Amino acid sequence: MITTAQVQPTKAPDRSILRERGQREVFCGLTGIVWLHRKMQDAFFLVIGSRTCAHLLQSAAGVMIFAEPRFATAIIDDRDLAGLANADDEVERMVAEVVQRRPNLRLLFLVGSCPSEVIKLDLSRIAARLDSRMSPKVRVLNYSGSGIETTFTQGEDACLEALVGSLCAAPSDAHPNLLVVGALADVVEDQFRRYFNAMGIERVSFLPSRRLDDLPEVGPSTRYLLAQPFLAQTSAALERRGANRIDALFPLGAEGTTSWLMAAAQALHIPSHRARAVIEGPAARARAVVDRWRSDLEGKRVFFFPDSQLEVPLARFLTRELGVKPVEIGTPYLHRAHLAQELALIPDDSVISEGQDVERQLERCRRARPDITVCGLGLANPLEAEGLTTKWSIELLFTPIHGYEQAGDLAALFQRPLDRQSRLKV
Ligand code: SF4
Repeated sequence: MITTAQVQPTKAPDRSILRERGQREVFCGLTGIVWLHRKMQDAFFLVIGSRTCAHLLQSAAGVMIFAEPRFATAIIDDRDLAGLANADDEVERMVAEVVQRRPNLRLLFLVGSCPSEVIKLDLSRIAARLDSRMSPKVRVLNYSGSGIETTFTQGEDACLEALVGSLCAAPSDAHPNLLVVGALADVVEDQFRRYFNAMGIERVSFLPSRRLDDLPEVGPSTRYLLAQPFLAQTSAALERRGANRIDALFPLGAEGTTSWLMAAAQALHIPSHRARAVIEGPAARARAVVDRWRSDLEGKRVFFFPDSQLEVPLARFLTRELGVKPVEIGTPYLHRAHLAQELALIPDDSVISEGQDVERQLERCRRARPDITVCGLGLANPLEAEGLTTKWSIELLFTPIHGYEQAGDLAALFQRPLDRQSRLKV
């Protein structure tokens, strides 16, 4: 059923935003498990959910079904409704089984979902009880990936927020240190670490870390840099622990990466000439590689459906480094403060929309006839059938796209659907 949209043009500090509240077409937060379980090598994600949840994870993880994956779904069905009192015991029994089968496991997440039977369970209480019993050998945390509470990338936000709660407090006289927040491919994390170290920033940690033991302490000495724009709750949790956010563009494309690295250098009192000496060469190479795609993409019109919350930084990259024109930049949620620098670089004639009423948005997209439409899997096929060229937004989460070395790949991700379309026409 399509709900009635409330379209309310609201005035952000510097531009109007189209706010929509209607039916939406977006994955739930369970999807994040697909990239989080790869990143956190001694963690396990136990989803308490339904067959739909199990199916979503299996199809999203697709190619990665191997003997002992580090996620699973405990299926709660109608039968369990009658004996909810026993459901707690059942979850505890499954956790014990998972832990016993994986001696190297250090961190287990109980992940909530939307079926009403699951909502009735108090997963935070179960997790706390298990944590006090198993800690420190295995830590047990919980968060919700439910489609009622989270969209797509908000699952990572909820997971990292839970992790922040488990971090030890840094001593009040600790030296300033840098914390990079947001799951990055290992290769990208290693590149960034090399840049920071070369600038003279030695105390760098990443959240999530590959291993539980590498998690940093947190406190007023922590300066944190968001690598992803969808971490509002994690950011708020870090601020509550006394950490301070470093404001910058997000590290997508040459310009974004330079802004991000230089902001960290400045916050950690690294002389700017020293930081510039480290990044000048890689930044120039990234610009040159991105430029190779310019002739294919310049002047093309792009339309973003709201999905990953990466839409605004991506639109900024496409506009500024490739001459693409964003017709509409839809995002499920717009964090005005975290995106302030990005929004200032978006052309005035691009519509920015927050939330979704999918039917209205489809109409706008059909009228605009963009050259590239970035959207979720559910919309891509129907739009392709109507002759529009689409790019799956989920690919932008599964592919390493951050940093100088990946800037060319990021540009290529937008050129590829155009290339495919032109081949089909030939
Ligand atoms: S959490 Fe909810 S939206 Fe996500 S797969 Fe399970 S039932 Fe579906």
